[in-house]
This record gives sequence, C-alpha cells and structure tokens, in this order.
Amino acid sequence: MDEAQEIAALSRLIGEARRAVVFTGAGISTESGIPDFRSPGGIWQQMKPIYFQDFIASAEARRESWRRRFAQDPVMRGAEPNRGHRAVARLVREGKVSAVITQNIDGLHQASGVPDRQVIELHGSTMYGHCLDCAERYEIEDLRAQYERDGDVHDCRACGGLVKTATISFGQQMPEVPMLRAAQEIEACDLCIVLGSSLVVYPAAAFPETAKRKGAKLAIVNREATGLDDIADLVIHRGIGDVLGAAVGTN
Ligand code: NAD
Ligand code: ZN
Repeated sequence: MDEAQEIAALSRLIGEARRAVVFTGAGISTESGIPDFRSPGGIWQQMKPIYFQDFIASAEARRESWRRRFAQDPVMRGAEPNRGHRAVARLVREGKVSAVITQNIDGLHQASGVPDRQVIELHGSTMYGHCLDCAERYEIEDLRAQYERDGDVHDCRACGGLVKTATISFGQQMPEVPMLRAAQEIEACDLCIVLGSSLVVYPAAAFPETAKRKGAKLAIVNREATGLDDIADLVIHRGIGDVLGAAVGTN
C-alpha cells in the first residue's frame, strides 16, 4: 500500500468503528519537540532510568531525579499539542473515541482539549508532584522554586513523606484506578488505534493486545516496527501527524 491507500484504510476503520479507543506513547509527542525513549537519539541513549526503590532509599537519587525533571522544563513548558493530538481530540469530540489511554506524562492530550475524564494516564503525570504517603498535591512551579532556592525539594508539609513527580517510575506499582478504567475501555471498544508506541513496555502494551484478542480491530501508526505489528489489522510505518491528520481531516 502507498501512503494514500494507508490513510484511506485507516479512515475506513475509523468510519466503521462504533466505539474506538486511542492508545498513545511517546511517539505522538515527538512532533511537539519532546524526545521519546527508544528512537535513535532518544532519552535512553543519554541516561539510565532512576528506579523507584532508589528514589525511596537515596537522597542523592532524589536530587538527581529532580535535577533531570527541571532540566526538561524548557522543553515541557514550551511544548504544545501537535496535529496528531488535535486529530485525536476531534475524534473524542465527535464521540468516535471514548477514551485516550496514554503512557505519556506530558499532559498534551488534555492541553489539546480532551476532557480530563477521558484521558487515562497509565504512567501518571510529570506536570505536578505529590506526597508518596498522603497524596498531598504540589504544583510543579512551587517545587521548582524550592529546588532553585535550596537545591532540593522539601518533604511533605502535611506528613513529612517524600514528594515525587506524579509519574510511575520503573519498579513502582501501576496505578490501580487508571489500570482498571483502561481495562474497561479496552473491553468495550471495537477498534484500538495505537499511536507512537514501541509496545514493548508491559503491562501497558498488553492493552492493545487484549483489544485484538477479544475481537476489536487493531490499527498501529508508528515509524518503526512494534511488538504487535504481526497481529494488527493495519500497520502504518509513518509519522503520526500527517497520517492521522489526513485520515481525520484536521490540520
Ligand atoms: P517509546 O520511546 O518506547 O516508543 C516511541 C515510538 O514512537 C518509537 O517506536 C518511535 O519509532 C515512534 N515515533 C516517534 N516519533 C514518531 C512520530 N512522529 N510518528 C510516528 N511514530 C513515532 O515510547 P513508549 O512506547 O511510549 O514507552 C516509553 C515510556 O516512556 C512510556 O512509558 C512513557 O511513560 C515514557 N515517556 C513519555 C514521554 C512523554 O510524556 N512525552 C516522553 C518520553 C518517554
Ligand atoms: Zn504527605
């Protein structure tokens, strides 16, 4: 198939669906200037992840993790939703897509106009912090101010617990409610559209796999091959913005 045929095929699958779910990974945000992890030049080639256990055990690991978070700030604060996000938001607005299940932590689906209640963040959000013990929320600007003033982020003012970005780190338990909601959406969908995920991080990648196994159609748009290309109904190895933008008719 050439590009026009692939776009037509995607458009057809979307047209036929009654209740679609979108599943996104870091690849949908690269066109907004946020690097992904596994592309050549991606984040993993530059630094090793900090495991949750190390964050808990070591003040030095915590400082390093905050250093990295605030080093990303210029990119995160400047990032705006791109054509791919806008196309997804339109499908949600039209009632075609019931939920966006995302591995991303950048808040760009919400920024593109998808209502909070229809975004399911499997890996949390880096746009705010919270206490690991009592869940008290901390705005990222306040944490940045502490970090810039004192070289560190303070423990929770309510209970003395450790404060961390509201993300799920390696070694940290997956969040119960989003996992449950994602499973329900996958169960109810008749089409799952994967956008920009290598589908190698489990348990997240199990969602599109389950959708296909229970009878929904599976479409994947990703520049490189993914772990689920073999079982998908449609695989498009191209950029998300152009492909989805054309399939949905947004720019
Ligand atoms: P990944 O890095 O493993 O895979 C991203 C995939 O997207 C790659 O296969 C790449 O080929 C593809 N891709 C990149 N740009 C694309 C484009 N414009 N069009 C089409 N395909 C494109 O990402 P992942 O599967 O989401 O898993 C990694 C983890 O990294 C996630 O758990 C997420 O929490 C975290 N992460 C999040 C962000 C973010 O919030 N923006 C950024 C980096 C990493
Ligand atoms: Zn607390």
